[in-house]
Amino acid sequence: MFKSAYLNDLMDRVIKRNANEPEFHQAVREVLESLEPVLEKHPEYVESGVVERLVEPERIIKFRVPWVNDEGKVVINRGFRIQFNSAIGPYKGGLRFHPSVYEGIIKFLGFEQTFKNSLTGLPIGGGKGGSDFDPHGKSDAEVMRFCQSFMTELYKYIGKDEDVPAGDIGVGGREIGYLYGQYKRITGLYEGVLTGKGLTYGGSLARKEATGFGLCYFTDAMLKDAGQSFKGKRVVISGSGNVAIYANQKATELGGKVIAMSDSNGFVVDEDGIDLNAVKLIKEVRRGRIKEYVETHPKAVYTEGCSGIWNVKCDIALPCATQNEINEASAKALVANGVTAVAEGANMPSTPEAVAVFKAAKVLFAPAKASNAGGVATSALEMTQNSERLSWTFEEVDAKLKTIMENIYMNASKTAKEYGLDGDLVAGANIAGFLKVADAMYAQGLV
Ligand code: NDP
Repeated sequence: MFKSAYLNDLMDRVIKRNANEPEFHQAVREVLESLEPVLEKHPEYVESGVVERLVEPERIIKFRVPWVNDEGKVVINRGFRIQFNSAIGPYKGGLRFHPSVYEGIIKFLGFEQTFKNSLTGLPIGGGKGGSDFDPHGKSDAEVMRFCQSFMTELYKYIGKDEDVPAGDIGVGGREIGYLYGQYKRITGLYEGVLTGKGLTYGGSLARKEATGFGLCYFTDAMLKDAGQSFKGKRVVISGSGNVAIYANQKATELGGKVIAMSDSNGFVVDEDGIDLNAVKLIKEVRRGRIKEYVETHPKAVYTEGCSGIWNVKCDIALPCATQNEINEASAKALVANGVTAVAEGANMPSTPEAVAVFKAAKVLFAPAKASNAGGVATSALEMTQNSERLSWTFEEVDAKLKTIMENIYMNASKTAKEYGLDGDLVAGANIAGFLKVADAMYAQGLV
């Protein structure tokens, strides 16, 4: 329940209009909760319908994706692109290929993306897309045929100044390559229509590392502000995909010891510190399972089931797998084991109940839309390099990423203070992200 009747009514309408989409309801509710004090100060945003427009995507594109598997059988998947908000720039946000994808997941991600992109300080609007296609266990040829079919529909709606997709769960360098090839073939355009591209055809150095590195730069800024650091800390990271791997690398460089990682089947604990090269070999080269880690590291322990990772004693937890992976019980276990900081690498990995547990225990908490914005920020840097027809060095991009993440931390922290919510980075990020988009929407009139 909100204090404001207007917000209660709006939330009710969001639930009715987007029935059976609980992830979207959860994301909207969390933002609206933070906006109560802002709307008291800015009644013009209510009067001009800015908030109502913000919770309604500008456009939802939904399509059939037919393809043929290696047995010659026709398979039909569903494709989505939700162009959420273009007030401050072209739609920008990743594509997710995972069997759990449906309209509600893409809607929640697109909504979050709008605020995240605003926080980067760069001119990018919010969008998200994907499919219920599962790349696990598919041959390269099957993935290519699927990507070509997906792009044969999607190309009509995207463009370098219109909508620029990138990767997300299940969409890495291989998938972006196939998607880009098909876009170029159909349109005849060699343009920066996708980010996360390979380095030989317009990709940016440091994009692959950006979300994980950015998460650690943000976490480091948050820790420093509280008189702490990564040095000597036990770190637990869920997932072993793109975000998790590069979060591990940077957390280790900053002095932390990563002792556990996972995938959707289970988790490994290595008290000597996870050997990241072994994880890269299993996940990036062989596309294998995390349990294979113990074959070469016999002192490490593998446990089936992914949520048990939150029972591993740590100082810093970096959830980098998927939404709602930390529930109330997991949050309580982390707190009981003395966690001092939780920073979200995945999108919305903590349930609202888990966030309340962290808040009550005064755990430093970094919300995803601020702490994992480094990926999209670097995607925007890739767009700039594509427009300039230039490539920056790894060091240049990494330095820009670090500055952007530190600025996002300062902006969220300062905004929270301004609203009398010192230390509440959830509110600070939501409000700061909202104000820029709301101001642009208000200035552009009723569109
Ligand atoms: P990847 O596909 O590279 O890796 C995802 C990892 O999470 C895998 O280890 C996967 O295990 C695990 N995982 C997926 N679903 C589940 C589940 N239901 N339960 C437990 N583990 C699961 O994806 P990314 O690393 O790119 O994305 C991870 C998160 O970060 C997502 O929430 C994404 O939205 C977010 N994010 C990603 C960005 C990027 O630049 N890539 C940018 C900002 C946010 P398995 O292999 O077994 O499926």
